[in-house]
Amino acid sequence: MKLSMFNIANFKVDGGAMFGVIPKAMWSRVYPADENNLITLPLRSLVVETGDHVILVDTGWGSKQDERFFRYTYIHGGEGLFEGLRSRGYSPGDITDVVLTHLHADHCGGAFNRSTGSPGYKPAFPNAVIHVTRSQLEWALAGNPREEDSYPADNIKPIAGYPGLNLVEGDCELFEGFSVRICNGHTPGLMIPVISYNTKTIVYTGDLIPSVAHIPLLWNMSYDIESLKTITEKGRLLREALENNYILVFQHDEAVECCTLHMTPKGIRAREKFGFSEIA
Ligand SMILES: [Zn+2]
Repeated sequence: MKLSMFNIANFKVDGGAMFGVIPKAMWSRVYPADENNLITLPLRSLVVETGDHVILVDTGWGSKQDERFFRYTYIHGGEGLFEGLRSRGYSPGDITDVVLTHLHADHCGGAFNRSTGSPGYKPAFPNAVIHVTRSQLEWALAGNPREEDSYPADNIKPIAGYPGLNLVEGDCELFEGFSVRICNGHTPGLMIPVISYNTKTIVYTGDLIPSVAHIPLLWNMSYDIESLKTITEKGRLLREALENNYILVFQHDEAVECCTLHMTPKGIRAREKFGFSEIA
């Protein structure tokens, strides 16, 4: 197995929205905000080579929506999706599988590009099977007022109509050494990849634990549809990770890529923080 990770781009969100009910006096000490109360989040994607598969986990925002859609996202920096892949030796045609943890726009937007003519879009990775949970796809297609902005039709429609779609039904080993856990608090059918790499187990915590600052059980995003489920799911995963010395990998933490865990009087917290290059 070969692993790599890169940051597609940074974007900004309101720090309060990212930490829910936690007061700014507390969260801003561990995740600094700018003068507009915004915090910077990277969009780290994983590439996993195992057997005959080259798997890309999440695709960033993509470029299908207009300026108005992106007016409060302040996208900046990062390597870019295709540039990041290219500098690691991958062309779009090399990707055999795209695993979309869920269909919020910052995770799946890059799976399709605009094209001229009908239907107006084409797959960014023409040889890839796209993996998404059935529950998340059905949820996104049904739509709801809370997540309306997260599911623009020009992201969801192409995915729903893609012939090479694998609808994941539950926890399973998708590829050799690459399993997924399904969580439902952030949004129904969020996939959390758990990867066996050499002697280590790596958890790509996605939007369940977006940053190291979200390890405390009550430090959760306002974006979560069901906070109590997030608390339960996060608690379960953190206990398992602690007992088995897993490494957590963060998709959205500006400063910390990876950590291990230990128990403290306040609960499970990060022990060592380190770069992804130290494990891959
Ligand atoms: Zn999300």
